[in-house]
Amino acid sequence: MSYTVINPATGEAVTEVAHLDEHDTDAAIARAVTAQEAWANVAPVDRARALRRFADAVDSDTERLAQLETQNSGHPITQSRWEAGHVRDVLEYYSASPERLIGQQIPVAGGMNVTFHEPLGVVGIITPWNFPMTIASWGFAPALAAGNAVVLKPAEWTPLTSIRLGELALEAGLPHGLFQVLPGRGSVVGERFVTNPSVRKIVFTGSTGVGKRIMSGCAEQVKRVTLELGGKSANIVFADADLEQAAATAPYSVFDNAGQDCCARSRLLVERSVYDKFMERFETAVQGVKVGDPLLDDTEVGPLVTQAHKESVQSYLTDDVPVAFTGSAPEGPGSWFAPTVVTPERDSRIATEEVFGPVVAVLPFEDEEDAIRLANSSDFGLSGSIWTRDLGRGIRVARGVEGGNLSVNSHSSVRYSTPFGGFKQSGLGRELGPDAAEHFTETKNVFFSAE
Ligand code: NAD
Repeated sequence: MSYTVINPATGEAVTEVAHLDEHDTDAAIARAVTAQEAWANVAPVDRARALRRFADAVDSDTERLAQLETQNSGHPITQSRWEAGHVRDVLEYYSASPERLIGQQIPVAGGMNVTFHEPLGVVGIITPWNFPMTIASWGFAPALAAGNAVVLKPAEWTPLTSIRLGELALEAGLPHGLFQVLPGRGSVVGERFVTNPSVRKIVFTGSTGVGKRIMSGCAEQVKRVTLELGGKSANIVFADADLEQAAATAPYSVFDNAGQDCCARSRLLVERSVYDKFMERFETAVQGVKVGDPLLDDTEVGPLVTQAHKESVQSYLTDDVPVAFTGSAPEGPGSWFAPTVVTPERDSRIATEEVFGPVVAVLPFEDEEDAIRLANSSDFGLSGSIWTRDLGRGIRVARGVEGGNLSVNSHSSVRYSTPFGGFKQSGLGRELGPDAAEHFTETKNVFFSAE
């Protein structure tokens, strides 16, 4: 079995990637078990050094990784370069963790009580196709830092940068078997991570449907699981906001990465009293978004990842969906899709389900209470933005919106030094931030008797 990688900007075949079967997966997990036992005994300072060397190898390979990502996923080249740099930064950040996995000494009678952060063993990471290398690094860097081995299954459509990262780990001197990239089908390699008892934790990023299935599979073995799932995040614009800034930035909060972003603010909530004024400015901003050849430095948005995904996005735009205006996109081969602004009913399919493409639903609201209610009327709760000049309102609404990653007067979502994850059906657990390495450990409590 294999998969032909297609360049989504040209429709041309790039390469063929062989798929592993269940037997290959078990063999890789067995190698990981052996490698982990040795790795856990490496001195913390040496594990830290090894991760810094891995970061250096990624740094030296930035351009190659970026070209691969653009070819495979269609990301604009400037974004792909940022993503490769982000992987390096995540590795550098967690290279500080091996020497800082500090336990506690807790006062008790009759002896000494100490806690240790023990590695879990083998960690299985399953990634989606929208940000293949960055999302992988959020799992593998802290997992390795905490003394675990990692098996990584990239999404079928976008395996190339993950495969290259596996090669770079070896080139940087990480032991064989410690970090293995296993391309294959979710229902084969991914499922085997869930059912093989030697894998002690699953880090899954992907759709909520598959996440639920993985969670129930993990329950069989009480396997640890982190889930980063879908979103339908709100960008809330109050009448007192800097409307120029809010309108100028709104396109990028949802059309970046062609809307294939779990944090995309795909619902744009605008206070009714400034609705018309805002929409006028927003239209100009949307028409300014540069959708085109991802190899050009000034391209802001590339194609959708595949033709199949383009059809899925298109299926949301049924005849009854009112389209306010669109941006532009190239014609011809490639899975191109113009940024699209729709004004549907609050409870319509396009306003409630994750489209995962460059489509935003604009919904007017009446007041602060209505804005919070509308933002929270979703099974998801991943991200969101709040635009207001009123500090008190910024605080109230940020506390009121059910979402793991909010931002006031900006659209920032992900920084490797701050925790990331979702409320409700957007996920379970947190990645990144100062505590992520601990999430790849078990706390062991040991009492030493003084008798
Ligand atoms: P997906 O759920 O179809 O696939 C994700 C991964 O799971 C792939 O590697 C796939 O092969 C694997 N998989 C599929 N079936 C499996 C099974 N039965 N067992 C084990 N693994 C299986 O998701 P996708 O379409 O690749 O990605 C898009 C989704 O990911 C969107 O819903 C998006 O919101 C979500 N996402 C979430 C975050 C976040 O951090 N919350 C980040 C990026 C993407």
